[in-house]
Formats: sequence, C-alpha cells, structure tokens
Amino acid sequence: MALISILGGGESGVGAALLAKSKGFDVFLSDAGALKENYQQTLRDNEIEFETGGHSLERILSSQEIIISPGIPEKTDIVKAIKAKAISLVSEIEFAARYTNAKIVAITGSNGKTTTTLLTYHFLKSAGLKVGLAGNIGQSFAKQVMEDKHDVYVLEISSFQLDRCFQFKPDVAVLLNITPDHLDRYEYQFENYIASKFRIFQNADASTSCVFWADDEVIQSNLAKIPASATFKTVSFQQKANAYITAEKIQFDGATLTLADAPLKGPHNAINMAVAMLAAHEAGVSFSQILQSLPFFENAPHRLEPCGVWNGVEFINDSKATNVDAVFYALNSYKQPLILMMGGVDKGNEYEVLDPLVKEKVKGLICLGTDNAKLEAHFGGIVPQLFATNSLEDAVLKAKEWAVDGDVVLLSPACASFDLFKNYEDRGDQFKNTVKRLIHG
Ligand code: ADP
Repeated sequence: MALISILGGGESGVGAALLAKSKGFDVFLSDAGALKENYQQTLRDNEIEFETGGHSLERILSSQEIIISPGIPEKTDIVKAIKAKAISLVSEIEFAARYTNAKIVAITGSNGKTTTTLLTYHFLKSAGLKVGLAGNIGQSFAKQVMEDKHDVYVLEISSFQLDRCFQFKPDVAVLLNITPDHLDRYEYQFENYIASKFRIFQNADASTSCVFWADDEVIQSNLAKIPASATFKTVSFQQKANAYITAEKIQFDGATLTLADAPLKGPHNAINMAVAMLAAHEAGVSFSQILQSLPFFENAPHRLEPCGVWNGVEFINDSKATNVDAVFYALNSYKQPLILMMGGVDKGNEYEVLDPLVKEKVKGLICLGTDNAKLEAHFGGIVPQLFATNSLEDAVLKAKEWAVDGDVVLLSPACASFDLFKNYEDRGDQFKNTVKRLIHG
C-alpha cells in the first residue's frame, strides 16, 4: 500500500490523516512537538500510526506523497530533505480538494480573510445551501470532505497553504489585498509573498470567477499573473467595477447596498462586504437573498469589536490587528477622537503610513508591550500625550483617565501578542474583561 506521511498533527494534519486513511492509503503522521490528547485519541481510534517529538526521516522519505502543515517553514531540515528527493509535498487543501466535487470558494489576502470568509459563508448558508467552512478556520477541510456532507465549501486560505497548492482550482477565487506580512517565511522578498498570494488564481480558466479588490496597487501591477481566460470580477472605488463602492453605498449590477444599513463599519469592511457579496453571487446566490441575510451577520470577535460604552466613551477591541495595515483601516473607521492602544512584539513594522491618521485622530497613545521603545521613538513627537506600560490594567486605567464623552478607546496593536498574552484572542479577551471590571464596575 502506498504510504502518505503527514507533517504536523494539528487540525489540518489530523483531518488529512483521516481522509487519506479512508481513501485506502497507509498513513503515518509525524509531529516535531506534542499532539493534543483528543487528536491522539482520534488517530488511535482510526488505527493511524503517529510519532511526536521528532521526525523519522527514513520512513517519511519512503512516502509517495507528504502533506505538510502550513506552520512548518520551508527552511527546516525535513523539508529540505523532502525537496532533495523530489517527493510530492502538498498542503491539506491541495490533497482534500482532489476528493470532492463540491463547489469551492477560496479566499486569500493579507487582511480581512476571516471577515470575508465568514460573510460569504453566512450568505451561502442563509440561502439554504449545505456549506462547509474550512481552511484556516473551523474544522479541517479534509475531514469535512471525508464526511461528504456539503455542496459548497468556503475556504480561508493563507499564503503558506497556497505555497503547497499545485492543481487546486477553486470555482470562485478571491484575493482581497496584498501588503507586506510574514516576510520572514519569504526570504524577506515581497515578490515571493506576492507570487504566493497569486497562486489562488494559478489554475483559473473560463469556468473560474476571480474576485479581487482592483484598487490595491500590488494587485493592480500583477494582474498579468491571472490567466486571461478567467472571468474577472472587480471591487473598486472606481465606477467601472462590478462592485462600485462610494461613501454611501455599494453598487452592483442589479443591486445596491446602503452602507448605513450594513452591520460592519469602515471602508475596509465595505471592501470585505463587496467582495463577499460578489463571491456568494458567483457561487449561485441572488443579490436579493444576499441583501436579505446581511443584517443578520455577526462578525468573529476581536475585529473592531465593540465592548461597551462608559460615560459616552466607546471601547473597541481590535486585537486581531496584528499588522500596520489593519491599524490603518481601524483608524479610518472612526470619526471620533481616539485613544489608541498599540504594542506587543514588533514584526519589523514601519509605522510611517500611520502618521497622518495618528496626527489627525489620536489624542493619546498608550503603548503596551515588549517593543514600547520603538513606538515611543516613532510617535512621541506626533501625539499630544503618550503613556507606556507593560500592564494591561494600567493601560485601561490611563485610557479611562484621558477619555471624555464622545471619544473612542481603540485597542489595535499592530503587533503580535506573545509577550504579555497567549495569543491575540487572549489579548482581546483580557482587554474586554479588564474594561468590564475597571470601567463598567
Ligand atoms: P485575516 O483573517 O486576514 O487576519 P480578519 O478579518 O481577521 O483578517 O481581520 C484582521 C484585522 O484586519 C482586523 O483588525 C480587521 O479590522 C482588519 N481588516 C479587516 N479587513 C481588512 C481589509 N480589507 N483591509 C485591511 N484591514 C482589514
């Protein structure tokens, strides 16, 4: 029996193992670290062999194909050894897509993937379709393919997954935007990261709808990377687009969304909604059905999430804003004076693009985390008042001291969270709890 090895025993790896086993392969899962107890149990229950704490190289190199977790960088020894032997090395997405005839909507971009994926899923589900939600989100795609319960999948796809996609051909391929991120995995070459994102379109043909934000300068200057035979569906602040966004509305061919009625605020969310609406429409749902279901959409937490009003001061948790671009859009989403909380582990950020918005809107900056010194050095001369701390509690108390009726206190860090918190969810939850405790009593 042909052997398939799986590197990485997280949600996607374990799902891939189950699917491979159900397709009759001999399956071996290998993880350099530990495996969650419930995943171990699943593997045992399905008689799938696995190892933890290292990789048995010889055995892995005897595989017909290897499925790799997106968390494992290309420069690790094991990947180098696999490449040297030219063994097929694919992502869970590439592998699982071979085994389903369901329609696939695949969504990538540097920012807004989760929001747009959840929106698209909401539109399709509300229209009565049997929809699977997968990729970087929810349950493993491979596991859902094995269970074969869905007519259509909405997949959130990262660049790391795309790097290991070759034949993957979504019916609707979506690219939101491209700004520098994760460059440590791309030899610090922005070009490599761009090429990775455009792999979402690599197999597009006349039957593929390619939906993208046409005003993004990086996308614009790389359009030749999309096969010319594909169907292009554009979102833009220019009138000629398939979804034309103005300050008041989004105009589609045959439908209009009034932004004041929409559940998500800010120009970036107008783009996300326009993209998701076009994607759902291309997947077969009418605009009238989409517009009917939009008011019932609830976004995932930690993305410009309102978390209470105190004496006219609104508190917003945007802990998921882990890069500068996301903060740029967060600042653009409010007209009120802002008390901005930033900081954490700096990822080589360049803050200059924020300067005009910070000058215009931020009345006080609170720096929270390991890399405060860089923030202080950059923004010290720009903001009227600045406070630096490593205590979330002190940060929230300072915001309370500074804020007056009509202000917004915005946690939008631009940085990773691993210094003071477990992850961005933990940072957002702790912020919400601290606000609740200290502000609302
Ligand atoms: P991703 O899954 O790509 O990280 P999310 O939907 O989780 O995207 O949003 C991450 C952060 O980016 C949030 O702070 C959010 O407010 C911001 N954001 C969402 N959509 C966009 C967009 N289209 N452009 C820029 N920033 C965005």
